[in-house]
Amino acid sequence: MNTLTASFLKLLLLYLLCVAPLAKAADAFRLSEVPTGSLGLYAVQLVEGDVALGLDEALSQLRSGAFKPVTMAVPDFGIGSRPVWLHLSLENDTREVQPRMLLAGVTWLDRLDVYVMHADGSRHAVHTGDELPDAPGLIPGMGYVLPLQLPPGRSEVLLRVASVDPMALPLELMMPEVYASHRLQFGYFYGFFFGFMIALGAYNLLLYTGTRERSYLYYALALLSVLFCNVAYTGHGAGWLWPQSTGFQRYVILVSMVVYNAFGLLFASRFLMLAQYLPRTQRVVCWSMGLSLGGMLLALLLGSQLLAGLLAFVSMSSFTAGMFVLGLVSVWRQRPSARYFLFATFFGMLGVGLTALSVWGKIPFSLFTFHAAEIGLLIEATLLALALAHWMRQHREARYLAEQVARQDALTQLNNRRAFQEAAQPLVDTAARHDRPLSLAVMDIDHFKSINDRYGHKTGDEALVAVANMLKRMSRSSDVVARWGGEEFVLLLPETGLQQAVNHAERLRRAVSELRIPAGDGVLSMTASFGIATRSAEMVLEELIHEADMQLYQAKQTGRDRVCSTPMP
Ligand code: GH3
Ligand code: MG
Ligand code: MG
Repeated sequence: MNTLTASFLKLLLLYLLCVAPLAKAADAFRLSEVPTGSLGLYAVQLVEGDVALGLDEALSQLRSGAFKPVTMAVPDFGIGSRPVWLHLSLENDTREVQPRMLLAGVTWLDRLDVYVMHADGSRHAVHTGDELPDAPGLIPGMGYVLPLQLPPGRSEVLLRVASVDPMALPLELMMPEVYASHRLQFGYFYGFFFGFMIALGAYNLLLYTGTRERSYLYYALALLSVLFCNVAYTGHGAGWLWPQSTGFQRYVILVSMVVYNAFGLLFASRFLMLAQYLPRTQRVVCWSMGLSLGGMLLALLLGSQLLAGLLAFVSMSSFTAGMFVLGLVSVWRQRPSARYFLFATFFGMLGVGLTALSVWGKIPFSLFTFHAAEIGLLIEATLLALALAHWMRQHREARYLAEQVARQDALTQLNNRRAFQEAAQPLVDTAARHDRPLSLAVMDIDHFKSINDRYGHKTGDEALVAVANMLKRMSRSSDVVARWGGEEFVLLLPETGLQQAVNHAERLRRAVSELRIPAGDGVLSMTASFGIATRSAEMVLEELIHEADMQLYQAKQTGRDRVCSTPMP
């Protein structure tokens, strides 16, 4: 990756260095000058009127001075432009025939006619563009590249470009070996880019099948659709995957842009939980998604490539800006993981925005702005994967906490009834299977109502907490202690026979009576009654509880502050 970025930056630097010196009037480009960067400033241009021009008509217009100098290194005519003619003079000031590779235009141009005329009167023409099956010279990731053999003296290159899609026309003349090395670098770059995106997409699909969490699904689909869009607009599709399907090629880039936006928004609204926290924003998101998908469908039905193109670019621009705004709002609202989302979408927005604006002709087109989307996507995809991992961890922690809370009594932090039953059941089963002793104690504070009445509910609560803490402190780790409700507690005592259980309950009874709770100006004390049941053959948990309850009733009936149990065998 380091050497890749390095060579990328080198290319960028080279480009920047070479654009400035080219700012002079359209003149013949001398081959002895080392050709670098786009040669737009050496060219002249003519935008066709209502009538299409043939080669000879264009030539006579050129000779009569109707062509105007190009003012950009990369001529760019935006979306829905009329056909354009470009003329470039090349002066071979050496004595040998010079081979050169001419890069003329981006990969998605509909029609491109290239005429090369030499001083000796010989001419040749190449007709290409993605409206044609097996478009000649289409080099995925670069554009249309045509080999030239330039004899000594002056040669002229005349191009006619017709494209409804954004018409960006980088014009480069490369030495064959420079071209070969560029191609290799692009090959590595796209190999890495596609591999990374496919792996990340597939991984998130797998995560979805495992977890059923839809964020993963939407994220994977957004990744794969933007990857598909990239494959289409860089010419990898038309060059390798569907060279014959020109009708498909006409719309696939534009449709996949809108589809990417839709999956991106689905992901964002799920990830940021818009429906829950920002329902109005969620509605806006749904509407804009529906509008762009519906509009695209309409454009397809009408067969209007121009409408589809405008829609796709407007959708893409508002999508990138919208994602960023969503991120900002979520950070502001302190939504979990929103910061990751904001950083990720910022880079994505920057990249896609630069590329979209440059091919749309709103900012200068360069090697960097052209590939900014891919670099931005790599950063965005990585940050979003991290965001998703962070998000899932937070969800898991929140769920764990919620489960914890659902099993705990809020006042005393003891097990609640449900948690007691879950924990006690297997212990009772195990004792039955191995025929081990097991006892159950139910404890109820005596005249608790009058404590409440005298000292207030708050002091009553404090008394309950003190009793609960004492129970926790005096129990073994293998005992299960729970608040059964109100001022009633239950203890399951594994490996404890009747006598031991009674002894233990006696200790607890004394401990309750020794508790002193600050109440008003003085302290309060209390007593408690206990009912004990011990497991005998075939007894289930409910029967144990019932039996202990009966004994507790007995204790209350016979004067309270005492322990009653099943009669000793
Ligand atoms: P007995 O000796 O027969 O058990 O009499 P008692 O007053 O303790 O029993 P009773 O069931 O009549 O009253 C229980 C009281 O416990 C009534 C209720 O207000 C109180 N109580 C239940 N839960 C809480 C609680 O969470 N906090 C407080 N402060 N009081 C509670
Ligand atoms: Mg009571
Ligand atoms: Mg009670």
